[in-house]
Amino acid sequence: MEDHISYILNDLGEHREKYFNAMSPPIIQTRNFVFPGVDDFRNAILDELNSHIYTKGNNPTVEILRKKLAALEGTDDALMFASGTAAISMTIMSCVGQGDHVICVRHPYSWTATVLSRYLVRFGVTYDFVDGSDLKAIQALIRPNTKLLLLESPNTFTYELQDIPACVALAKNNGILTAIDNSHASPIFQQPARMGVDIVIHSVTKYINGHSDVVAGVVCSSHEIIKKMFIDEYMVLGGILSPQDASLIIRGLRTLPIRMQRVQESTRTIVKALKGHKSIKRILYPFDPDFPQYELARKQMSGCGGLFTVEFDLPDIDSLLSVIAKVKRWKIAVSWGGHEALMLPMAALYNLPGRDNPHIPWSYVRFYVGLEEPEYLLEDLLEALDI
Ligand SMILES: *Cc1c(COP(=O)(O)O)cnc(C)c1O
Repeated sequence: MEDHISYILNDLGEHREKYFNAMSPPIIQTRNFVFPGVDDFRNAILDELNSHIYTKGNNPTVEILRKKLAALEGTDDALMFASGTAAISMTIMSCVGQGDHVICVRHPYSWTATVLSRYLVRFGVTYDFVDGSDLKAIQALIRPNTKLLLLESPNTFTYELQDIPACVALAKNNGILTAIDNSHASPIFQQPARMGVDIVIHSVTKYINGHSDVVAGVVCSSHEIIKKMFIDEYMVLGGILSPQDASLIIRGLRTLPIRMQRVQESTRTIVKALKGHKSIKRILYPFDPDFPQYELARKQMSGCGGLFTVEFDLPDIDSLLSVIAKVKRWKIAVSWGGHEALMLPMAALYNLPGRDNPHIPWSYVRFYVGLEEPEYLLEDLLEALDI
């Protein structure tokens, strides 16, 4: 029963007898916890990760979330952060020291690339980006000082995947830790720790919270790694999640599986209906049989979420932008995984003063399917494309 998903979502980590048998946990809105005597205080200090001393370290509301997310990913424990970005940067920092080297898959989440290329280089940490589908290329980059192989499978614009067990085997053979950004799949559709990955990261901002009202992140790993990260990074850098936000996320988490199912079904319907449209050249969606890594996606993911990317077949940026202007039910916004359908037109990022154009062509638009009726979303897109 302990690892049944319904048990994890409904009961794991909750101690109702401690708060009047309330069904939903209270928001323990406090900074300090007080001690009846010095002995209790001393014992708590010896294990701050699991004691209640100060909310910067551990807070009972946040702790419920830690336990639930760790169990969903099949790891011993987890740490909550103020954003997915904080979770990623602290994971990398926890794995490297001066002079160390990181191998990261190419085209990761943009701030993941930035923390390596602009921030950690200041401290002598070197890095390489690699085509993660090419194991030989990864192998060729391994050096004696390589400490971390950082994966993101799938990524969130072109959905490049890595063969997770094969990457794990390669890393283990060379004594390198593996970490993965698992935000795209959610813990419902892919559990990389069960394939041997050492550290699993999520932008909790996305599916896990799912209601477009919180920014948060999580790192799931073994007792040993979490304990080390707690002492060396988490307590030092202080990028914690508030108990208020933890409470909202616990509420969002209760419906994660049914939201993922709904989003998956709607996305399949919409992708199917759009394929072959005269203004569409190509659709990227990992569970579409024409997707280049379809077989791998099917092998290691039990489902696929609500992101898909359309390459439009339109003569120029202006004609694409005029189609986008006619779309009303998909909102222009960046951060996906909530209840509402979104679109991110690459064309909007072209020809910005003082900025380089993105590496992705202007004809690409990323769509995110929310919890709306699929017909409601489809009708809107098809009308806008009726040119
Ligand atoms: C959004 C996102 C992040 C960053 O998460 P924040 O919570 O916005 O900091 C990291 N990785 C992926 C794949 C994302 O989509």
